[in-house]
Amino acid sequence: MKTVSDYFGEMVFDDRVMKANLSAKVYASLKKTIDEGVQLDESVANAVADAMKDWALSKGATHFTHWFQPLTGITAEKHDSFISPSPDGGVIMEFSGKELIKGEPDASSFPSGGLRATFEARGYTAWDPTSYAFIKGKTLCIPTAFCSYGGHALDKKTPLLRSMEALNRQALRILRLFGNDTAKCVRSSVGPEQEYFLITKEMYDARPDLKFTGRTLFGARPPKGQEMDDHYFGAIKPRVAAFMEELNDELWKLGIMVKTEHNEVAPAQHELAPIYTTTNVATDHNQLTMEIMQKVAAKHGLVCLLHEKPFAGVNGSGKHNNWSIATDSGQNLLSPGDTPYENAQFLLFLCAVIKAVDDYQDLLRISVATAGNDHRLGANEAPPAVVSMFLGDELNAVLEAIENDKPYHGAEKTQMKLGVDVLPRFNRDTTDRNRTSPFAFTGNKFEFRMLGSSNSIACANIMLNSAVAESLKIYADILEGADDFEKALHEMIRSTIKEHKRIIFNGNGYDDSWIKEATEARGLLNYRTTADCMPHILDQKNVDMLTSHGVFSVEELNSRCEIMLENYCKTVVIEANTMIDMTKTQIIPAIRRFAADTARDASVKEAFDPAVPCGYEKKLVIRLSTLAECIAEKVESLESEMIALHSAANIIKESETIRDVILKKMSELRVACDEAETVTAKSYWPFPTYGDILFSVK
Ligand code: ADP
Ligand code: MG
Repeated sequence: MKTVSDYFGEMVFDDRVMKANLSAKVYASLKKTIDEGVQLDESVANAVADAMKDWALSKGATHFTHWFQPLTGITAEKHDSFISPSPDGGVIMEFSGKELIKGEPDASSFPSGGLRATFEARGYTAWDPTSYAFIKGKTLCIPTAFCSYGGHALDKKTPLLRSMEALNRQALRILRLFGNDTAKCVRSSVGPEQEYFLITKEMYDARPDLKFTGRTLFGARPPKGQEMDDHYFGAIKPRVAAFMEELNDELWKLGIMVKTEHNEVAPAQHELAPIYTTTNVATDHNQLTMEIMQKVAAKHGLVCLLHEKPFAGVNGSGKHNNWSIATDSGQNLLSPGDTPYENAQFLLFLCAVIKAVDDYQDLLRISVATAGNDHRLGANEAPPAVVSMFLGDELNAVLEAIENDKPYHGAEKTQMKLGVDVLPRFNRDTTDRNRTSPFAFTGNKFEFRMLGSSNSIACANIMLNSAVAESLKIYADILEGADDFEKALHEMIRSTIKEHKRIIFNGNGYDDSWIKEATEARGLLNYRTTADCMPHILDQKNVDMLTSHGVFSVEELNSRCEIMLENYCKTVVIEANTMIDMTKTQIIPAIRRFAADTARDASVKEAFDPAVPCGYEKKLVIRLSTLAECIAEKVESLESEMIALHSAANIIKESETIRDVILKKMSELRVACDEAETVTAKSYWPFPTYGDILFSVK
């Protein structure tokens, strides 16, 4: 029998395959490109392309594609076959270095937010050699960045790579100050925990809202939801187990190290987590994981829902972005060290993150903003829209001691030795955890929990890397010029704590009183919706920071703001139209039919013998008819607002009307329909209920 180690990564053109199939010279040159970003010359590219093609053909591939991540949030690919005509009437299989390095997809229908004028409709894709090529189906997929001809990024990978480079540059400056002359580079790494729902295909097909919008737009609460907490870590049902087994196999073949899987809190909800890796590879892997999850589910007669709030009233699905930074030799810079000197360095990196999260709360909120995630943040078991940080008791005590110039008394008295002159030494605390914090320190990494399950992790990490790079830059500028390094270091850590401690909150983030304290006493931002936060991507401080590190150009930021707002508006418009349609063609007719049949029953009874009581039927008919009237009114009102929406002056105005009017009307309509569901006989209700869907997989 084949074991996992036999087939792990068998569909990936990884280091093992490269070493085995490239000449020593070509391999060395490619490695230099991968590790140090050195440009690849054409002869090397040709040799790599040749080896890649032979390897792909041996695995049964017939096509290749430049695989990229446009701003739609999903991945895109356009397949070209390897075949080329040969003079004898047959074909030969060809693939050149040029084709490997650069592609020119006709990209005119990808969102560009005005960056790509129609006359230059073609963008180009450029190979990212730091993420291995792989085979999906019969296609060799080459991970690429996607730009306009003017050089503007039209994707999520380009700014992500730029942000990693910015972080690398600044972190190396700090390491040098601490006497580290050997580190070649510093990279951020990520392990994203991915939540999802699994339901049966029959249920999905019977719900137009799930099919068109990914979430249920109607649905009364089922008698049993997640109240009993009996699903969390519960025994995995056979059908789900079969799905997970095949999913693991498929992901392992693609070199994706999925490690854990378990049931989540809501019925039908599950989670999967890979072992962490370099951020851009983790991003590619997470995109692939989401795609493969849906494919494998389909093979099992199931549908995998990645929407962040597919069901009201039960937990939504998030994605936890576990993030840390490490040197090429594997030193985790967010791990408290063994020596006082290492701890001082750790504290500086920790402060850089604290400062970054406080200074750029808005960018972090923006990085997770979608119409779907707006429903999740602040609802059942999800962090609020206010960004704050959790550090745990021990670190908190350390920071307080530094701030107040008091000695630190750690758990063990022997740990009290002072570090670089005055900084305390302490052990890391892995015991306490706070599951309600949007941004929690978990021993040697931070866990950013605001991401929605369908978000690409690229956006969050672009902002995180850039903001931390900015803190480090400010620190390095000061420390490099300091006469007394240790004194300057201590002062800097102290002033960071003083200035930014408002962002640290160790209490219950789900508590309403926290939102009050956060916004009123601490002045933290609370952008409830995408419409609220998105325009702030263009605030001067954000533009200055992101452009100064070369992560985005001003034009790119403008285009992203527009695309994200467009996306928000389009999503809600589709939802509203789906609601209108379902209400008029399914819900109202069902209520009417049930009311008419009930009325007929009553009149039959009365004709039979006026003494037969039929007060119940009559009351019910009145209730149903009243509800139907109310629903009809609400749907009409939503419809007229939808027409008015067309005349919005610009995308910002449109998004505000969506937030203030459309979403409100939708929720009013839903309340009335959900009430009708509870009084309509099940056999009349036109689609499966929450109870049916959430408990559909046996
Ligand atoms: P939990 O649910 O307790 O938060 P999981 O085991 O589900 O933990 O997920 C933890 C995730 O964090 C995994 O993907 C893991 O690989 C990742 N992780 C662990 N250490 C690091 C690190 N240093 N940098 C980034 N991610 C990490
Ligand atoms: Mg976690």
